[in-house]
Amino acid sequence: EAFNANVAAASQLNAFIVATPEKAVEAAQAVDAKRAKGQDLGKMGGVPIGMKDLFATNGVQTTAASHMLEGFVPQYESTVSQKLWDAGAGMLGKLNLDQFAMGSSNETSYFGNVISPWRRKDGGNADLAPGGSSGGSSSAVAARLCPAATGTDTGGSIRQPAAFTGISGIKPTYGRCSRWGVVAFASSLDQAGPMARDVTDCAIMLEAMAGFDPKDSTSLNLPVPEWEAGLNPDMKGKKVGIPREYRMDGMDPEILKSWDDGIAWLKDAGAEVVDISLPHTKYALPAYYIIAPAEASSNLARYDGVRYGLRDLPEGAGLQDMYAATRADGFGPEVKRRIMIGTYVLSAGFYDAYYNQAQKVRALIARDFEQAWSQCDVILAPTCPSAAFALGDKTSDPLSMYLNDVFAVPASLAGLPAMSVPAGLNSEGLPLGLQIIGKAFDEQGVLNAGLAIE
Ligand code: GLN
Repeated sequence: EAFNANVAAASQLNAFIVATPEKAVEAAQAVDAKRAKGQDLGKMGGVPIGMKDLFATNGVQTTAASHMLEGFVPQYESTVSQKLWDAGAGMLGKLNLDQFAMGSSNETSYFGNVISPWRRKDGGNADLAPGGSSGGSSSAVAARLCPAATGTDTGGSIRQPAAFTGISGIKPTYGRCSRWGVVAFASSLDQAGPMARDVTDCAIMLEAMAGFDPKDSTSLNLPVPEWEAGLNPDMKGKKVGIPREYRMDGMDPEILKSWDDGIAWLKDAGAEVVDISLPHTKYALPAYYIIAPAEASSNLARYDGVRYGLRDLPEGAGLQDMYAATRADGFGPEVKRRIMIGTYVLSAGFYDAYYNQAQKVRALIARDFEQAWSQCDVILAPTCPSAAFALGDKTSDPLSMYLNDVFAVPASLAGLPAMSVPAGLNSEGLPLGLQIIGKAFDEQGVLNAGLAIE
């Protein structure tokens, strides 16, 4: 009930698109009934969580924060959300996000931007971005509207909003969480993961979310490890790699300082710190902004006005006019930009020059990490090049918005598990995040290093 009251009271953050308090209450009652019978309460028994509105929820509007899907009520449940309900969690509501998960500030949502609960100490009263695309999730957890929320991460959308709002979030190895029933952005990159107050809560929730799913052809057919039981902040015998290419010219000195703090904390926990090289880092961002839009342009072709959501059928219009009217009306400007970039890089004359090159770069980035693992167990880097920026600061310049993803996209392209954990406040009193990148399937190593920093 307290959480329900919170959600209503904090509506000015605009974190929720739809509130479903009755579902959270149902889950709590189910847990009470189980407790009375002495039954197992489940990994998430009775915990009210927020669900990013990118996960299809049976009977509850699922919009991807777009006009295109406004009013779309799925008749099926995504695998990840179903697993959470099976583990006893209850849904407080559907959380706002960047439209079709495209963005880094939650300002591309059709339902309006989300506001971070954080304020600069003495920088006026500017509303700050909660990060994106999982900005409703980060804002809701940071404001304590819910103890945890789901996120999805294609090129940083769990880690960057977590860093901006002082919470923890992990993107597991590609394939750990089923993509079935998650509105697709870039299928070879999309991964679901938990966003919560601390590393332990992330471990618990990830256990509930992960697992093989025959309905997702890229799902990992591996048992889900007991990450919570395996938590151990002792870093003795572990090597932490510090990638020198992440130390970029003109970097915010406060970000560098928090990185140094993280190095010191891991050393205190017993780790050995080694300098490593990931030579192709600077090509990751351009490769990502070719591959992700290419896949998006293909995935979003399904919104044709026939099958899902919106249909604009002008008087006397034919099929082509209906497609055009629906897509012109249903997609926001950032989504259209991605579709056009994607269509361009996949078109006959440019496929080799752009898409193929980007795929080669992707392989080189993955190889960089492969080589690094001969020297270290996990990698430590900043999550983002800056603390949270003010809403409106970057909306007129898409490139500066994309640059915010520079440290996040390499792990996405390589499919590796990566986490952001809070690493203190900057001089403006805003949270900074540190990122831990691990070997494929080694979420445990990532969580443990996160725990050592926390
Ligand atoms: N900010 C990145 C983008 O706009 C990442 C988004 C995401 O991970 N969903 O593509």
